[in-house]
Amino acid sequence: MAVAPPAPRATPALPFAGPDQLDPRLEELLAGASAQLSHWLATAGQRPPLPQLAVLPEVHPQSTGLDQQRLLADLQLVMDGAYNPNHPGALAHLDPPPLLASIAAELVCAGLNNNLLAEELSPSLSRLERSLCTWLAEAIGLPQGSGGVPASGGSLSNLMALVTARVSRGLQQCGDAVLLASADAHVSLSKALMVMGLPPQALVSVPVDGEGRLQLPQLEAQLTRLQQQGRPVLAVVATAGTTVCGAVDPLVPIAALCRSHGVWLHVDGAIGAVYALDPHHAARVEGLGLADSVTVNPQKLLGITKTSSLLLLADPAQLQAAFATGLPYMEASWGGGHGGECGIQGTRPAEVLKLWLGLRQLGLEGIKAILDGAIERHCALLQRLAAVPRLHLRRGALHLLAMTPEGLSAEQAESWSLHTRQQLLESQLMLSRPLYQGRHHLKAVLGNPHTRETHLQQLAAILASSVAALP
Ligand SMILES: *Cc1c(COP(=O)(O)O)cnc(C)c1O
Repeated sequence: MAVAPPAPRATPALPFAGPDQLDPRLEELLAGASAQLSHWLATAGQRPPLPQLAVLPEVHPQSTGLDQQRLLADLQLVMDGAYNPNHPGALAHLDPPPLLASIAAELVCAGLNNNLLAEELSPSLSRLERSLCTWLAEAIGLPQGSGGVPASGGSLSNLMALVTARVSRGLQQCGDAVLLASADAHVSLSKALMVMGLPPQALVSVPVDGEGRLQLPQLEAQLTRLQQQGRPVLAVVATAGTTVCGAVDPLVPIAALCRSHGVWLHVDGAIGAVYALDPHHAARVEGLGLADSVTVNPQKLLGITKTSSLLLLADPAQLQAAFATGLPYMEASWGGGHGGECGIQGTRPAEVLKLWLGLRQLGLEGIKAILDGAIERHCALLQRLAAVPRLHLRRGALHLLAMTPEGLSAEQAESWSLHTRQQLLESQLMLSRPLYQGRHHLKAVLGNPHTRETHLQQLAAILASSVAALP
């Protein structure tokens, strides 16, 4: 006797929104999560920037799935232990509060669940992504026809830039190619070389001046030396906004030097490139548009939710030259190339959505207001701290300020930084503690739009008294 096939179940128990009518479970869960999140953001000022270690909820799925109330309660436990970027005293890192439109776009991005790997999996979003990359590239000063691709973070953007540079120079098989960057360039360059199969010595470090900028004569000397030795140069990486000082390398003469030596210029503008979006601030990163490629991280100052990074190129066709493999399991591209052919990542979420909606919500005036605010707070803090005797300030052209007292041994500087950071945390002010040129500093990042004059006043007072108390 034939066994009857099982009848399809009438009521879908699985938690997927039904395709034919509103799913009340979805509406309820979104409403609950949204209420919790709004409350979390609205009470940020009552919790410290850095929370106490919190209890984690159970991590493994139980045999029966949990109800929504329990899910929301577990979610709350994780939220309670989360870093609190919306606190006005959160001044330690390049992690600002999230923009409203970005939060909403992130939610919609998850709900659409499109894939930027291929156009048929993200028809409108692939086009939006390409168009926005072009707009952004031209807006920061790259030539007409420029463009690029988003990536999950600046480390990946830098890696893709270097791989693209290597292909464009035909150096794929070359084990002794080198990369030149300043001593203050970001650690992601070392990581990129590692992934590219090059030894650590492939990173040739160019000294910086007293303000953390690459020294041009030293770069020129290195380029000439390498040329004489017949050593191929993969690229020069200039930094627009270094991680500790916020310094901007002299991009205009570096670009001229690269051009005359026929070398690819990548600008790591993870921190600083967004300043080029406003004509009042663009001079801080003058020359950005002369690069062959630029890393931009809108997640770092503009408040676009993580991750939001892009690699922008004067000639975006170079991306396909470096990364296209063909996608034999996809329909051919109809709109200028599949996302998966333009970079290292395959499946990618529509991160473009929160960038696009966030920038549209801000408008050019909003972007300017964010940049203005960051620079004003930087100036205000600088002014207060300049009056503190013995405090050595390291300041670049952007919104970062690092400091360490003079006349201390490295050990004394470390203990000062530890002690002072703790004191600041007790007042709900959080700075970071980078090791820079062999010495611990405290670093303030003035990108938080909630920070007020009173917070800066309090910050400066605590710093001043901690220096005054030194032997
Ligand atoms: C943050 C940063 C990076 C790396 O970006 P991630 O998004 O953290 O991967 C690269 N370069 C500079 C200058 C940075 O500040």
